[in-house]
Amino acid sequence: MPAADTAGPPPEGARPGAGRAGHVLILGGTTEARRLAAALVTGPGADPARLVTSSLAGRVAEPRLPAGRVRIGGFGGAAGLADWLRAERVDALVDATHPFAEVMSRNAAEAAAATGVPLLALRRPGWTPAAGDRWYEVASLAEAAALLPGLGRRIFLTTGRQGMAAFAGLDALHFLARSVDPPAPPMPAHTDVLLARGPFTLDEERAVLREHRIDVLVTKDSGGAATAAKLTAARELGVPVVIVRRPEPPGGVPVAEDVAAAVAWLATAGG
Ligand code: NAP
Repeated sequence: MPAADTAGPPPEGARPGAGRAGHVLILGGTTEARRLAAALVTGPGADPARLVTSSLAGRVAEPRLPAGRVRIGGFGGAAGLADWLRAERVDALVDATHPFAEVMSRNAAEAAAATGVPLLALRRPGWTPAAGDRWYEVASLAEAAALLPGLGRRIFLTTGRQGMAAFAGLDALHFLARSVDPPAPPMPAHTDVLLARGPFTLDEERAVLREHRIDVLVTKDSGGAATAAKLTAARELGVPVVIVRRPEPPGGVPVAEDVAAAVAWLATAGG
């Protein structure tokens, strides 16, 4: 998708050198990224002279738009992002992408190093198992797929529409794949698609597991409350969970675990 700027150029008063308090670029696509934009644009202590731009990859057809200025589409790798940081005179960069958006996080670290723009990673903590959980931790979707035939036949896939190919050869199993937009082929032969956007309640998750007679849940360790209820429902119903561990974040980048910590960091980072 070509890059698009839904809010046009920065307002005059918000341009560098015109009384602006800083330009913050948030790499988004998560609940936390939207909350950070809201906190900076409309929250208590919001500085109207600060320019806040959120960047979305453009994967979701109708994304929930954050407050402030929004641009949509890739930058063209780390070099493209570095160019953008310079051209837009960005003072602080927050990588608030999903913990599995590995490429974008690496590009952010490289672009920050190349330009000297301070970078913070906003990462919600991962999930941890509780008593009664039957979790199988794996390093990749491919490893998850390899485990499934030994665990059950009716699989609830909540790993996102982009990873379906990893399960495509498992034609003896039945899949229920939940995603915001329809998943792209290749897909397993027996796949029902459930189009839905979180957050999901515990009642909703219990109902999905029961109605579809799910005997294995597959998820990434996304963390956060919005999609955690499926783990509780699985525990209650004795359903094993195959959970894909997070990729290692780029080294040397400070991490905030919540929006308040990110706001506090920005107050010191010149953004
Ligand atoms: P990725 O593999 O790390 O990134 C691939 C490419 O997509 C990047 O190189 C970049 O293109 C572009 N991109 C990614 N995030 C972007 C952003 N916020 N703004 C502008 N361009 C972006 O990313 P992904 O895993 O496909 O995730 C894409 C988006 O979906 C992210 O914003 C992420 O927060 C969100 N998301 C991902 C997951 C997941 O499980 N991976 C789950 C929920 C939401 P260029 O190199 O051209 O700049």
